[in-house]
Amino acid sequence: NTITKIAVVGGGGVGKSCVTLKFLQNKFVEQYDPTIQEMYRKAIFVDEEAAILDILDTAGQEEYKSLTDRYLRNSHAFICVISYDQRGSIGQIREYVKRIQRAKDEDEIVGLLVCNKCDIAKEERAITEEEVKKLSLELNLNMVECSAKTGENINDLFVTLVRNLRKK
Ligand code: GDP
Ligand code: MG
Repeated sequence: NTITKIAVVGGGGVGKSCVTLKFLQNKFVEQYDPTIQEMYRKAIFVDEEAAILDILDTAGQEEYKSLTDRYLRNSHAFICVISYDQRGSIGQIREYVKRIQRAKDEDEIVGLLVCNKCDIAKEERAITEEEVKKLSLELNLNMVECSAKTGENINDLFVTLVRNLRKK
């Protein structure tokens, strides 16, 4: 069985580590060191077929830069995270997608635009669903809302990526 490499990318504080750890341990880790970049392995069954996932939880540290670019190049699929409480995360994900396209030397990437923290009430959000939809069209990535806090859609992100890669 081959290993599926997934990178979780996005601005600081959008919840990359919380999404990753919720998927791995089914626990919401309220506070996680924002400087830690780590790779995790988990085996799952998707449509009765095993998949081994290597998941890179990225952190924007300068010292990881060359390592991260190498990993982005070797990754098969990307979880591109923005969050409902951070307007700035939109610009940051645009930059990340460009960086992935450059690293892979390919315009079409397998990935999802993931809007985390959907547990936040609509009237308290810094980004509207409409804006996320527009961004999804612009980046040519399907969008999914999730919450690492409640667990909503967390497993689905990874399952969907495995399915998309199998269809390729
Ligand atoms: P990272 O820098 O992208 O890895 O972000 P973290 O995973 O460290 O999360 C940053 C902050 O957002 C932490 O204070 C988390 O508790 C919070 N957070 C993460 N996911 C969620 C979520 O789904 N809902 C809410 N309300 N807060 C979240
Ligand atoms: Mg983190």
